Amino acid sequence: MEKTEIIEIFKKTEALLEGHFLLTSGKHSNKYFQCAKVLQYPKYNFLFGQLISEHFKNSNINTVVSPAIGGIVAGQEVARQLDKRFIFTEREGGKMTLRRGFTVAKGEKILIVEDVVTTGGSVFEVIEEVKSFGAEVMGVGAIVDRSNGAVDFGVPFYSALALKVQTYEPEECPLCKANVPIVKPGSRKMSPPSLEK
Ligand code: ZN
Repeated sequence: MEKTEIIEIFKKTEALLEGHFLLTSGKHSNKYFQCAKVLQYPKYNFLFGQLISEHFKNSNINTVVSPAIGGIVAGQEVARQLDKRFIFTEREGGKMTLRRGFTVAKGEKILIVEDVVTTGGSVFEVIEEVKSFGAEVMGVGAIVDRSNGAVDFGVPFYSALALKVQTYEPEECPLCKANVPIVKPGSRKMSPPSLEK
């Protein structure tokens, strides 16, 4: 799948919005990305799952592990396509933990799957958690890499798409200078979904 095709899917599912946005950081941007919007449609999750599972199919994986909540939908699909076990970590007292009776064995080979990698924080925590059991991390797969190439997990990292989003300090924002009305994502009154995506 071409990069342009993936971007087209993000746009038509409104996962990727273009306009003038106020980010939670206080910075302004001409794009806003919300991965959950595209994962509303299992057929697209299937396509991204194909790209990730294809990349790691010869990596001798035993189990796919994802950080909750964002990674679960993507990780489950990758595990399904690789026909491997799937489990997830979640925060307990602020710490990323395997709960619900989930465990990994010493020497078990793990693929970590996340929906979006920005700083990689959650993924680093999953790596630490599974390594505490003596498991081995074989790679990290993501639908979108927003780190601008800055993140290094110390294992092979593959993303279906590297998405660069330009951000501006408010006083330097060209969209403000052009008097484009600003929108705070989430507070925006969303249009109802059309039946064809
Ligand atoms: Zn602005």
